[in-house]
Amino acid sequence: MDRLYIVVPCYNEEEVLPETARRLRAKMTALTEAGKIAPDSRVLFVNDGSKDRTWDIIRSLHESDPLFSGLDLTRNRGHQNALLAGLMTVRDRCDMAISMDADLQDDINAVDEMVDKYLDGCDIVYGVRSSRTTDTFFKRFTAESFYRLMNFLGANVVFNHADYRLLSRRALEGLAQFKEVNLFLRGIVPMIGYRTDTVEYARGERFAGESKYPLKKMLSFAMEGITSLSTKPIRYITLLGFLIFLVSIAMLIYSVIRWAMGATIIGWASLICSVWAIGGLILLSLGVIGEYIGKIYLETKGRPRFLIRELLEEPDEKVD
Ligand code: UDP
Ligand code: MG
Repeated sequence: MDRLYIVVPCYNEEEVLPETARRLRAKMTALTEAGKIAPDSRVLFVNDGSKDRTWDIIRSLHESDPLFSGLDLTRNRGHQNALLAGLMTVRDRCDMAISMDADLQDDINAVDEMVDKYLDGCDIVYGVRSSRTTDTFFKRFTAESFYRLMNFLGANVVFNHADYRLLSRRALEGLAQFKEVNLFLRGIVPMIGYRTDTVEYARGERFAGESKYPLKKMLSFAMEGITSLSTKPIRYITLLGFLIFLVSIAMLIYSVIRWAMGATIIGWASLICSVWAIGGLILLSLGVIGEYIGKIYLETKGRPRFLIRELLEEPDEKVD
């Protein structure tokens, strides 16, 4: 039977943890009884340098129930890093790992379907929000604009999918090969490959405590996502430079006509042409330099160029 690990990053979550643990316990018991997961499956709480009693709670949960394990980071490193720390810790202990938030905003019942899809042979199962009716208009609007902007700027992410997903052991091993430090898991996971599927669920409200993702953090997260996945913004600069250069040619023709008609003062035609041409050329060269810097940036990430699913090969004959 396959062993499941649920990985939960926690930052100042003392208000929600006891209830989260209770619900997770019930879910894990049900899954074990249904014979879908091994009885020694676990939940790993990752304490991301919380300033409140989060770690004490995790410790006492661990003492009272072998289901719960804990991982304590030395300081706050942010959701993505905390999640990666958890996933890399369970990588050689489990057959599949599901990541979810401590506030259980992502419907825990989707876990059943995720496990079913895993048992059907999927290596990655994305949890996708079918509706955001419980989020405030502001949160919904900013979050949805976030996905649109990301895709426009070349960071291809699964729409309305946050970090609620199942990864099989070999997908985790694939993930481990991405050595980049600017971590944006939602963009990296689709690069792993294998058979993937999605599970829809309705996103609930945080049942206690408040969001650890205020607008400021969301904006820097969006920036992080775009700059760590794509060099498209640089491409747009090149494009803009090219457009302005075209405008400069149009201006050249226009000003020569105006000059021939004698409708200009001395110096205007040459001045106006140089302004446009120089502006366009500068942007264009910046873009070209940027293209190279973008290449260097992607190289420094040292991403795996391929991951192997399977090798079919007749074993070599043993020669004595
Ligand atoms: N989180 C974390 N480190 C941080 C901020 C958040 O580990 O620096 C965790 C947090 O405990 C929660 C998850 O990331 O489990 C998502 O945070 P939150 O629910 O506040 O975000 P929202 O749902 O409002 O986007
Ligand atoms: Mg939340």
